[in-house]
Amino acid sequence: MITIVPLVPPRSSIDAKDAMKALLDQLAYKPSKPKVFIKPNIVDALGAGDAVDVDPAVIGGLVLALKERGAEEFVIGEGSAYFSNDEKNWKRLLEESGYEAMVKELDEKHGIKTTIVNLETASREEYAWKYGVLKLPSLCKTHAYINVAKMKTHLHTMVTLVTKNQKGLLLLADKKAFHLSKKYGNLHENIKELGSIMKPELAIIDATRALEGSGPTQDPISTMFAPGQTKVRRLKICIGGMDMTEVDNAACQIMGIPVDEVKHLAKVKISVAKGSQPLIPASPPFARPKIEIQMTEKFYRHVFEEACTGCQMGMSRMLRKIMALPELRERFLKFQTRHGRIDLILGNVQKEKVDEIAKKGGKLVFFGNCTKKLSELFSGSIHVPGCSPDHNDAIHILLDLNA
Ligand code: SF4
Repeated sequence: MITIVPLVPPRSSIDAKDAMKALLDQLAYKPSKPKVFIKPNIVDALGAGDAVDVDPAVIGGLVLALKERGAEEFVIGEGSAYFSNDEKNWKRLLEESGYEAMVKELDEKHGIKTTIVNLETASREEYAWKYGVLKLPSLCKTHAYINVAKMKTHLHTMVTLVTKNQKGLLLLADKKAFHLSKKYGNLHENIKELGSIMKPELAIIDATRALEGSGPTQDPISTMFAPGQTKVRRLKICIGGMDMTEVDNAACQIMGIPVDEVKHLAKVKISVAKGSQPLIPASPPFARPKIEIQMTEKFYRHVFEEACTGCQMGMSRMLRKIMALPELRERFLKFQTRHGRIDLILGNVQKEKVDEIAKKGGKLVFFGNCTKKLSELFSGSIHVPGCSPDHNDAIHILLDLNA
């Protein structure tokens, strides 16, 4: 059973509390343990208005509502592919996404102490799964585990909802392995299998603001030069349920994306709780993601399924810094003028796919260690090393700043 509650994008936790209370009431949900572990999607250091991360005010409202239902201890945990490997980056993620301020507000205004944990450093337990053993946070067992996803389209998995959001539970090494199709199965099988060994007891999707187009994050260059690659949709709702597959099915229906097109998701019957808003598809349906994205008149990026989020975030941070600094922006414009067309490639794909891109005659730029061998097959190409590449190093190499 699922429920849909109305919620205008909240400004603070208290604004979201009543909607979260209604969601819990309609589902008759009470945490199974006094200690609660909430896993939101906090993928990028962006504010709530960008619709990339779960709005921290929604999580704050959930904490307030759960407190009234008997929860006593709260842990918020995330494992971000780009920000979890380094304490400085992690702090920046929490500051810029608004999570640090939300936790401070819960403490100062409501007397609720909430801990935020970088899951990369959290203690883990081994779970047997189809491909051997997978280590997942002990918090999933010691606490009542609640998963809160953002409603977004995703260029590799069509949508990223609760089932996909579980990828944030993985160690960084496993996040990469999920994409590389060597140690485990392919990306879609891996996400599906993860969902068979780990399930939250409550699944929520924040669709106060949702993201359509080539998610899962926003890109500053395409926003400036080729607008419309991603767009924020203010649906002003949250969806909840105890079965994450059913909740994800309901979200797909709202997004206008048939579940059959989401390879990691099984189609299930949806029943709607009493008191819920009706389940009505958004109009028009959500714009679909694309692999090739024209970012400027001459600059294209190709993010293949084999590229994990680490490289996608590295690329995104590189481009953001270039756009933020006028001297780098100028060099970037010259770099584009020098080459008729530039194709930035992420992910170790089959050579044939790059052959198709190469036929367009542009300068090929390969991003990340796993494209190294591929880059050697294309003379004159540029390779940006790193796993994932540091965005400052990447800028130096791309714009040849040492020359
Ligand atoms: S190089 Fe990039 S895509 Fe390849 S494994 Fe490392 S982070 Fe992932």
